[in-house]
Amino acid sequence: MNKSLLLKQYFLTKYGRRFTTREKLLAFHDKKMKNHITFVLKHSTFYKELYKDVLNNHNWKSLPIITKSDMMDSFNELNTVGIKKEKAFQLAFDAEETRDFSPRIGNVSIGLSSGTSGNRGLFLVSSREEAMWAGTVLAKMLPSSIFREHKVAFFLRANSNLYESTESGKISFHYFDLLDSFPKHIERLNQLKPSIIIAPPSMLRMIATWKDKQIISISPEKIISVAEVLEDLDKSYIENIFEQTLHQVYQATEGFLAATCSYGVLHMNEDLISVQKEYLNKEKGIFVPIISDFTRKTQPIIRYRLNDILIERKTACPCGSHFLALERIDGRCDDLFYGENLLTNEETCLFPDFIRKSIMISSNQILEYKVIQREFNLIEIKLKVESDEEAVKDLVLAELQKLWKHYQLVVPQFQFTPYDIVTSDKKLKRIENRMKVKSNDSII
Ligand SMILES: [Zn+2]
Repeated sequence: MNKSLLLKQYFLTKYGRRFTTREKLLAFHDKKMKNHITFVLKHSTFYKELYKDVLNNHNWKSLPIITKSDMMDSFNELNTVGIKKEKAFQLAFDAEETRDFSPRIGNVSIGLSSGTSGNRGLFLVSSREEAMWAGTVLAKMLPSSIFREHKVAFFLRANSNLYESTESGKISFHYFDLLDSFPKHIERLNQLKPSIIIAPPSMLRMIATWKDKQIISISPEKIISVAEVLEDLDKSYIENIFEQTLHQVYQATEGFLAATCSYGVLHMNEDLISVQKEYLNKEKGIFVPIISDFTRKTQPIIRYRLNDILIERKTACPCGSHFLALERIDGRCDDLFYGENLLTNEETCLFPDFIRKSIMISSNQILEYKVIQREFNLIEIKLKVESDEEAVKDLVLAELQKLWKHYQLVVPQFQFTPYDIVTSDKKLKRIENRMKVKSNDSII
């Protein structure tokens, strides 16, 4: 690990870069992107080919958009270090199997994104990029100086060189494998007494329950939610028990994309990436981000469409940052719900946020929930409630029917099943589309 580079990036992120206006930030993006594209055209045959007919177009914001499947299909030609897809996959799968996440090819770490088999992404990060990543993460997320002692407990499905790279000076990093048993987690948490906990919200909720029942005795300074959509219901539960603001990191294998400021508001990391919005619903500020990372040279990510739905924040954040502020991460594009328009018979989508709001306003007795679209006309609902289960079901049913009617959609069958979700290493989605065939038709 290049410690001096890590520290340089830490200080640059924390104190060095101040954008006093949004215009200055955009000018910074322009400059960075122009330099980056010059580099990429020299070293990536994929981008050279992709841009060959638009090279005279100086506006990088209108360059062709790529997706994960483009990136994976052209993996060998896209990366700038000559790493072959087959070898990288082999190494990444072996690491998952043996739970030894340290192998590299040369100085490049290999990361594997979660996803269904055949749809998993491979991500390459050089040791230089790793040091820069670590410096940025520490600058944005540490509750106090890098020179103070911090004990970080990190709950993830898989470890990575990237995460270990944040170990620096007095900062110790402790990986908790989500595949390990709860008694093991409880024992380790009690021994370690971490000052920072980073985990998916479903795991954080479990840890909060243990604290509530006094099974664990820990008082972390900062708690950070990662890897799953953070629902308001879980957020307030965790915040109440730990008596502090729950922070968030929006980190994908595609990069370190957003982090919360001291006010707990998510801001896109526009000091590392430029974000363009493909609106799904402009009025409600719902969009899919197209990201361009001007710091990643090993596997350049330019005009890359993520599969996520984000909702922009309509009001300025009190922290004063000009980085794009988000109301929330709504979910994956795959988890849009679909209905049939009463008048035109066209398929129309409903955003996870609509479903979430309907559930939340229906009753304050709901402790946990899950809503699944099974089929076009069948929605399954699981509720864990404090009391009056039958009455709550009626209220939820009425709200959901109202939602479908509001958008002039054929009201589907709503089926209640017992709440049987347990905390596990599987990603928890509270709003999930499990239809076999999904549509991509008109968007509300
Ligand atoms: Zn802020």
